[in-house]
Amino acid sequence: MEKERICKKPAVFLDRDGVLTKEKSYICKIEELEIFPYAAECIRRIHEKGYYAIVITNQSGVARGLFTEEELKGMNVYLKRETGIDAVYYCPHHPDGKIIKYRKNCNCRKPNIGMIEKACCDYAIDIGHSYMIGDRASDILTGKKAGLKTILLESGYGTKRLEMDVKPDYVLNDLQMVLDVL
Ligand SMILES: [Zn+2]
Repeated sequence: MEKERICKKPAVFLDRDGVLTKEKSYICKIEELEIFPYAAECIRRIHEKGYYAIVITNQSGVARGLFTEEELKGMNVYLKRETGIDAVYYCPHHPDGKIIKYRKNCNCRKPNIGMIEKACCDYAIDIGHSYMIGDRASDILTGKKAGLKTILLESGYGTKRLEMDVKPDYVLNDLQMVLDVL
């Protein structure tokens, strides 16, 4: 007798800035979010291929007092509506944050994998066939630690600003090219 019949789906975990939106140092309000014109169509095709599309993003601007967690939640609602992603997980913390509530060494800030673990609690995810897509070394490290295939995009910081020596499985121009890999 089958014990469980949960139907697992793979996921594409995406960084936000430099992947779905134009990379800027800190995006503090909705008006500053510049979503790439191809983002929604790419997410639609990622879904069509049978993947969840889940954003995991470090947002230490909250800990730094640049914007509030409520303002960030507003940006997330907007991003979901404009791109069709399934969910956004964010880390508002930073070890040197100005706002006490968010000043800590947490398990969610990339390259830690807390946000991926949280997503796996909320969704039935087939990790072995999932991907991490980002524009920074920390994204690639996160993906590797979580056992995901990794894709570095040149549409944000890309290879020009890799802080650490990491070896992504793929290096691609932007999210549109990911569709050829999946
Ligand atoms: Zn955190």
